[in-house]
Amino acid sequence: MKTVKQLINGAFSTSSSKQTIKVTNPANNQVIAELPCTTETEMLMAIESAKVAFELWREVPVLERARVMMRYQALLKEHHDELATILSQETGKTFADAKGDVWRGIEVVEQAMNVPAMMMGETVENVAAGIDTNSYIQPLGVCVGITPFNFPAMIPLWMFPLAIACGNTFILKPSEQDPMTPMRLAELFMQAGCPNGVLNVVHGGKEQVNQLLTHEDTRTVSFVGSVAVGQHIYKTATSYMKRAQCFAGAKNHSVIMPDANKSQVISNLVGASVGAAGQRCMAISVAVFVGSAKEWIEELAAEIAKVKPGLWDDEDAGFGPLISPQAKARVLSLIAEGKQQGAECLVDGSDFILAGYEQGNWIGPTVFSDVTERMSIYQQEIFGPVLCCMCVDTLDEALALVNRNPYGNGTSIFTASGAAAREYQHRVEVGQVGVNVPIPVPLPFFSFTGWKNSFYGDLHAYGKQAIRFYTETKTVTSRWFDDEVVHSPNLTINLR
Ligand code: NAD
Repeated sequence: MKTVKQLINGAFSTSSSKQTIKVTNPANNQVIAELPCTTETEMLMAIESAKVAFELWREVPVLERARVMMRYQALLKEHHDELATILSQETGKTFADAKGDVWRGIEVVEQAMNVPAMMMGETVENVAAGIDTNSYIQPLGVCVGITPFNFPAMIPLWMFPLAIACGNTFILKPSEQDPMTPMRLAELFMQAGCPNGVLNVVHGGKEQVNQLLTHEDTRTVSFVGSVAVGQHIYKTATSYMKRAQCFAGAKNHSVIMPDANKSQVISNLVGASVGAAGQRCMAISVAVFVGSAKEWIEELAAEIAKVKPGLWDDEDAGFGPLISPQAKARVLSLIAEGKQQGAECLVDGSDFILAGYEQGNWIGPTVFSDVTERMSIYQQEIFGPVLCCMCVDTLDEALALVNRNPYGNGTSIFTASGAAAREYQHRVEVGQVGVNVPIPVPLPFFSFTGWKNSFYGDLHAYGKQAIRFYTETKTVTSRWFDDEVVHSPNLTINLR
């Protein structure tokens, strides 16, 4: 059986820990690897190596740092299929979906290749007579990333390439549920020319994370995961005076106006709701039908019912299994609560089992109508292939519903009316809005801008905001004296 290694000070080693976690294939729950959790002493070594490496790495010219990213981008593209295969095997994602996961990460590396331009400061000459002020962007030190299971390539790549391109060093603690993809990302990063200690990867859970949050030598904490953990990490990290950005759970609504293009609505919502088994933080989990658009619910449900779960290498599979038996049990219990609380289950995937893979974490596509705000299927993030349909009479009511929800990650509106779309995008209290685009994830030159309970912090992931998150601004105000230098004539002008 494979034992997952860790990366400390440039060496891929097996932890001496006796504490191990089993990595499983979600399709049948067979153990595919063993993950030893990094010991306390090894954690200290990782932090120390990142601290020492920072003093050298910060002095490496910015273009050289960018060139590491260029080589990394080329390696990621070369190994795209191999990475997607590892990713599929440990998450159950379809191969196409896994390739998308890797690709969205590659795009952030491409952003990191552009770091020289992004680290330019500002200059004002003559802030007073003979005095200039320049601002410089400087790295902070040791940065930390804690990532979730659902995007084991994209989300680590949201973090360490940009942090490192800025001149920082990094410690990644990937999800213990699918650590093999991040380890392969780390191997390729070392191959691209990353010096020892600049990237470290450690493994485990709460214990290891707490050590990173509380150690005096870590400067920033980037977290992506569930709300409860995100709140804990944000509070702990900031109480230890770290800069923190914590991306948390979601409940994303799509509002469907009666003037929308029906076939586009239906085909877009099928993939956006149950694709990736609903295990996307930007999945559409609530469809809000305005007025007569409610007549489309049954047709939408019928299309969603046709999506077949299957193995990662089955080209006809719409999505794969859930990540773990615990995740499956949680989704099944929410589906049962939905039925008990009075929602109508139009499509029920609770009993779905893939023949030959009876031990896997399978759930079929599921659609509820007549969902109300008081039901637990509405209040909780289900994180499974379940769509809740709700009906309102007006756009105003739809806006009020979406704005009452405590999450604010993503939303979309389907309409043919520019005025309705403009009203919605202006008034909705959600950080990422799609107009006739179901999953509006911004590309890396923008930032990933969740709001409310979907994000704790000030500066978001990737784009210009990430450069600010991973750096400090220094202003230098200077004046020079030299008797040999003739100064500009002292002109006098009347200032009014
Ligand atoms: P999770 O919160 O269980 O785990 C995330 C990370 O935190 C893992 O590395 C885990 O080891 C660590 N962790 C877990 N418990 C901890 C604790 N008590 N103390 C310290 N660290 C702890 O999340 P998950 O199940 O891996 O991922 C799914 C969640 O992530 C969903 O809620 C989803 O919405 C969210 N997510 C959000 C975004 C976003 O951008 N907003 C993106 C992807 C996923």
